[in-house]
Amino acid sequence: MKTETTIQGLNASLSTARSNRKMIGFVPTMGNLHQGHLNLVKEARKLCDIVVVSIFVNPIQFGPNEDFDNYPRTLDQDCQLLADVGCDIVFAPSVEQMYGSQPRLTTISVSDITQDLCGLQRPGHFDGVTTVVAKLFHIVQPNFAFFGQKDYQQLAVIRQMVEDLNFPIEVIGVPIARAESGLALSSRNGYLTEAELETAPAIYQSLTEAADQLKSGVSLDAALAHIRERLTTAGFVIDYVEARSPSLKKVTDFDQDVVLFVAAKLGKTRLIDNLTVVYSSNGS
Ligand code: AMP
Repeated sequence: MKTETTIQGLNASLSTARSNRKMIGFVPTMGNLHQGHLNLVKEARKLCDIVVVSIFVNPIQFGPNEDFDNYPRTLDQDCQLLADVGCDIVFAPSVEQMYGSQPRLTTISVSDITQDLCGLQRPGHFDGVTTVVAKLFHIVQPNFAFFGQKDYQQLAVIRQMVEDLNFPIEVIGVPIARAESGLALSSRNGYLTEAELETAPAIYQSLTEAADQLKSGVSLDAALAHIRERLTTAGFVIDYVEARSPSLKKVTDFDQDVVLFVAAKLGKTRLIDNLTVVYSSNGS
């Protein structure tokens, strides 16, 4: 496995693969890798000849009061994990390499679907994500790109960008990897205290309880209220608890598949999760 820190170096490493028309798979990450990230890499390994993983903590997707400075950076450990799952190239550029020293005057901005859920609480976040992902797509020029369903809204936003701007890339969504407790794996789980780690699985529990309620005929409003109540009682401060259609349209009833979304703070740590509830007209 090679590690490249410059665009030039990456191009040199990919030149043979490109001229031999090898299928290039790309997994963008911010590092501090866990099994969720590794599942994306394994999926890429199955479908592609060459697997590139980027590790870049992208400053422009963090708000002024967010955790950019403290975000865990564990490059050596990450490279070891990536070598073990068969990654070919790690691209770990500096901020300078990605953004240069000139002011950046171009932003990629997807409208509408970036406006609610995480977009409401984190203004500018998705512009930061789409801008860096567009840059990385141009740099890596992959055939396939892999994103986790844990960041469901992000995946929808990237798909939209790829469609709208004709990136010749197939975007693959990969299911959420969870700890045994049900807690969705996240680099930010490392911020949780031991006591908070005990409490955190309540997010997934409340989502599965709400899903069961919906399937047994409880209204969507009541199921969402159950999640809010359960999490508030457990000590979370809720950012949002919402239901949307799989394409992120507002929904009022469980008369189609719905995705339940939670973003909530436990102490200083903001956690997100989601669960798709499949509708079946016979109620089963
Ligand atoms: P991040 O390093 O947090 O930017 O995440 C990089 C990629 O890994 C994104 O596509 C995330 O959606 C994905 N990812 C993070 N956590 C998980 C998880 N628990 N399950 C599946 N994918 C994940």
